[in-house]
Amino acid sequence: MTRAVRLGAGFLLLAALAASLACQRSSGSSQPNHKLIILGIDGMDPQLLKQFTREGKMPNFARLAEQGSFRQLTTSIPPQSPVAWSNLITGMNAGGHGIFDFIHRDPKTMELYFSASRVEGPKHAIHLGNWVIPLGGGTAEQLRQGTAFWQILDQHGVPNSIFRMPSNFPPVPAKGQTLSGMGTPDLRGTYGTFSFYTDDPTAAAGAVEGGQIIPVQVESSQVAANLIGPDNTFHKGSPPASEPFKVSVDPLEAVARVAVQGQEFVLREGEWSDWVRIEFQLIPFFGNVKGMCRFYLKQAHPRFQLYVSPINIDPADPALPISTPSTYSRMLTDEVGEFHTQGIAEDTKALSDGVLDDKEYLKQSHRVLAEHRKIFDAEFPKFKQGVFFFYFSSLDLNSHMLWRLMDPKHPEYDAAAAAQNGGAIAEFYQQIDQVLGEVLPRLDQDTTLLVLSDHGFAPFYRSFNLNTWLLNNGYIKLKGDVGPDSNEPLANVDWTQTRAYGLGLNGLYLNLRGREPNGIVTPGAEEDALTKKIKADLLDVRDTKSGLPVITRVDVASEVYQGQYARSGPDMIVGYNRGYRAGWKTILGAFPPDVLEDNTNPWSGDHCMDYTLVPGVLLSNRKITAETPALTDIAPTILAEFGIAKAQGMMGQSVFQSQPAPH
Ligand SMILES: [Zn+2]
Repeated sequence: MTRAVRLGAGFLLLAALAASLACQRSSGSSQPNHKLIILGIDGMDPQLLKQFTREGKMPNFARLAEQGSFRQLTTSIPPQSPVAWSNLITGMNAGGHGIFDFIHRDPKTMELYFSASRVEGPKHAIHLGNWVIPLGGGTAEQLRQGTAFWQILDQHGVPNSIFRMPSNFPPVPAKGQTLSGMGTPDLRGTYGTFSFYTDDPTAAAGAVEGGQIIPVQVESSQVAANLIGPDNTFHKGSPPASEPFKVSVDPLEAVARVAVQGQEFVLREGEWSDWVRIEFQLIPFFGNVKGMCRFYLKQAHPRFQLYVSPINIDPADPALPISTPSTYSRMLTDEVGEFHTQGIAEDTKALSDGVLDDKEYLKQSHRVLAEHRKIFDAEFPKFKQGVFFFYFSSLDLNSHMLWRLMDPKHPEYDAAAAAQNGGAIAEFYQQIDQVLGEVLPRLDQDTTLLVLSDHGFAPFYRSFNLNTWLLNNGYIKLKGDVGPDSNEPLANVDWTQTRAYGLGLNGLYLNLRGREPNGIVTPGAEEDALTKKIKADLLDVRDTKSGLPVITRVDVASEVYQGQYARSGPDMIVGYNRGYRAGWKTILGAFPPDVLEDNTNPWSGDHCMDYTLVPGVLLSNRKITAETPALTDIAPTILAEFGIAKAQGMMGQSVFQSQPAPH
């Protein structure tokens, strides 16, 4: 693809403004004043970028594509963000860095865990869900393997700052400033648990998918409730730590006053508080953990409805390491104010659970981007030398949640809702274009710019329940005496008769002898034959509703992964057709009754599909010589910019590397 973007009539004007844009440099430069800027835009899709550019909404991207280069960027197998960013970070695929999915399983116990990190402490420790907060000398362990490109830059004395890189929690030791991103938990050790307090008797009390609905009473216009903190293992049974708060609801006006830990503030209906610092006392005067949250008064009357955001790690006094140097997050807070530290800061779950509506979710989501732009605006002007990387999450999370508003073919499309917020995704793209607009004037002969995404995007119309399909096709057998309804992963599976199972968004595992506790498939010929059979069967699956193939690609781990962890993940990676994705329940090892279902969740766009269908983007102010650049080329590209040879195990090569002349 030589010219990926068609430009509108405004281009000539833009071209005249483009004089400052750097032209082609010789590659492999190692001048001391060389600079490399990388904007990492999670989920930026090449088709949407072209569309919004055609519509004149992305003038800075149009300019960059015209003056420099624009390519599709081959994503990871599978195209999930933790995997994809790990490919970029290490220059290796999942076989080398060991991150195969959001969710991994321990083959010995079949327990599920988040793939990115684990926190462990010595004797005195505070458990956070499945995590542990060490008091003092404990350690937080990152599960991603391999060396990060910035650690190699450090070894060669190239200064660098890496902001909000996914799959980097806790941040690996680094000489420069780094701030952790996706994969950073909230204070409860989850990827974000909201609380919703209401006196509405029709609201289902208890845990919903992404949070907790907490029933309260309004008595004499007063509400007394508790904020829920991390599990307190110093108490028997490890009940979660909690801190009381009070709300006085004005009997006439739609206003309430919130009082918590000596802080008081008034919220009008529909108003968000600023960040509120909360200290959870675990052992008086000794074990305190600091966090922060935001309150949102959804309704004062007739029903009381108060949303409290997930409790974020306080960057001014982090309970777990979120930056290098460790004092950096505090210094940053001093400069720009508080900001979301939780890895996935957009409260997608509150929208999915119906606790926030589109408008409320969008407001929260815009706040997240505003905070990140504030950090960018504070840090980017300080960049003088070496490498500057900055990550933006907005396009990914908002394309997930709002796709249904711009696609009439989506089962959740609603014309009225679309009329209200159908332009929301485009608006987030435009904000990213504004960020690029701040960068372009800073480019000179010594500066290379890379703008890239980890994967693209597609609609998510229908869910495929892989485990139900495996069950219906005889690959899984259940114990006869119990039903398949359970929250426990793969509950009731008769492992002595089960040959394969699905876990995670794209993972398919064989029940392998010597690996799984009751493995029955013998490695070698039997394994190969079964792999072939399942692959062929999956590629044959058709959606009776549309007639379309549901799965367009199945990759076999031993054929696509290189490195020492190549056999630690799934045996096959299921690549769904555009419009299809694994169902929410099958991901966690459950068996919904239907193999295929309409996706009626607001989470309406996705990318965990056939990786060839959802490439990312790669733009540069320089000429990209690679015809089909991949995420694994980025680390070698970064190193080559500073004359550093790629590290052992890195698969790709610089995207600027000129091809050898034919003889
Ligand atoms: Zn995503």
